[in-house]
Amino acid sequence: MSADTTPTTDQLAGRATTVLARLGVDLDGAERGNVISRSPINGETLAQLAATTAGDVDTALTTASEAFLLWRSVPAPRRGDLVRRLGELLTEHKTDLATLVTLEAGKIESEALGEVQEMIDICDFAVGLSRQLYGRTMPSERPLHRLSETWHPLGVVGVITAFNFPVAVWAWNTAVALVAGDTVVWKPSEITPLTALACTALLDRAIRDSNAPSAIHTLLQGARDVGERLVDDPRVALVSATGSVRMGRAIGPRVAARFGRSLLELGGNNAVIVSEAADLDLAVRGIVFSAAGTAGQRCTSLRRLIVHRSIAEELVARIADAYRQLPIGSPLAAGTLVGPLVHEAAFRAFEEALEKAQSDGGKIVVGGNRVLAESAPQAYYVEPTIVTMPQQTSVVHDETFAPILYVLTYDTLDDAIELNNAVPQGLSSAIFTTDQREAELFMSAAGSDCGIANVNIGTSGAEIGGAFGGEKETGGGRESGSDSWKGYMRRATNTVNYSSELPLAQGVNFS
Ligand code: NAD
Repeated sequence: MSADTTPTTDQLAGRATTVLARLGVDLDGAERGNVISRSPINGETLAQLAATTAGDVDTALTTASEAFLLWRSVPAPRRGDLVRRLGELLTEHKTDLATLVTLEAGKIESEALGEVQEMIDICDFAVGLSRQLYGRTMPSERPLHRLSETWHPLGVVGVITAFNFPVAVWAWNTAVALVAGDTVVWKPSEITPLTALACTALLDRAIRDSNAPSAIHTLLQGARDVGERLVDDPRVALVSATGSVRMGRAIGPRVAARFGRSLLELGGNNAVIVSEAADLDLAVRGIVFSAAGTAGQRCTSLRRLIVHRSIAEELVARIADAYRQLPIGSPLAAGTLVGPLVHEAAFRAFEEALEKAQSDGGKIVVGGNRVLAESAPQAYYVEPTIVTMPQQTSVVHDETFAPILYVLTYDTLDDAIELNNAVPQGLSSAIFTTDQREAELFMSAAGSDCGIANVNIGTSGAEIGGAFGGEKETGGGRESGSDSWKGYMRRATNTVNYSSELPLAQGVNFS
């Protein structure tokens, strides 16, 4: 089903300008250049911005390094005051920022609002954290000695983000890094420069309102070459990079070569196992949201359905039925559930994957087509697609950033877990079952090898309270909640001798 209500370029650009003005961004005086914001809704240009020059990156790193010397000495709870103010501004401007996410990344309204809510939630979390950057005290083996650890700010954090979570991933990093006492330089996706301007304008306001040093956050616009400068510069203590495995493979070794730290949040290839004991009503709802939501453009999107052979036919028929009823169209139109792919290259990848899957013996059950091409020739809307596969061939091992769900069948849970783990990525996974033994096994050391292992919910839509990230080619990084803050700080171990003797550890005698 299609909701053919594609807006005109003037309507989209006008809306972007109005929303940006309310968020504190005026594009009138901005220099034009080759950073192009193109709305996936109709594929037309919203704005053209100049990329940050090499000289400007250098200056930004100098000022961020200088600001760090001030910021690291501000008490953490006072740093939390700034993040609280950011959270207030985000709450005030939630709808406008979400509209911009829709215009620039193509997310439907509800998901765009959800993304901004994640920003507000992480600000709350980080404010609490600003009073809880705990170190431990351990028993010393020596009398009248105290052994403890303290956590200190790390330095300048370079944040590189992907197009598909243009605002939340910045907030995950920035809110936590700022309360940790770090300063931030942000290189957003070149596809979403306007949302980056809006986030920066709100943070700048929060900085002014809290009398914090202005250079604790700097925005660098541009493509990969701008990101590469952060990767190679020793002034950047931590490179926190979110994006494709290809990007992580390029930057991981470069940061390591200069002994910098990296936090990599890369691609996923997420699976759901549906057992004979599953509540199928629940499973269908979880699967459809995870696989078709965001038009399959989440790192946690469901790409592989591993279903027990005895229920495969029924389950696939029910999901296919739900897919046929999904309204596809402009994410600005009420009722749309599936918006556009981000650009033509994403559509070509969708087409190629389907061709390859079919040549590997796959059969398309539903979907597979581009829609709305006449009303929006520069935009790429596709039908969420289900393909049954005879086995997990190489195309299933790849992350295709589009709504394709491959279906595989299994006979024993061990086989299902083996299929789940047999891909190079390790981000998210889930099992639908009412059998506790199956659920526990799936979450055990012998179960899913992913950073996220859920039971009776889909693979996408994580809460900020948990640590987010994945294993293997997903990069091993953890962001957001739990103790992920430790990645943004350095640890010092302190031994204090308050005796009048000097006993050596391990009983060593050196007198
Ligand atoms: P991408 O890899 O094309 O780009 C991501 C960012 O990296 C952009 O800002 C880009 O300019 C920059 N970049 C690319 N190559 C670089 C290099 N060599 N040096 C420095 N910077 C470089 O990814 P994308 O298409 O924007 O986003 C989609 C991908 O991101 C998917 O693979 C998705 O799974 C992944 N992703 C992962 C997570 C996660 O938390 N694991 C979250 C969101 C997206």
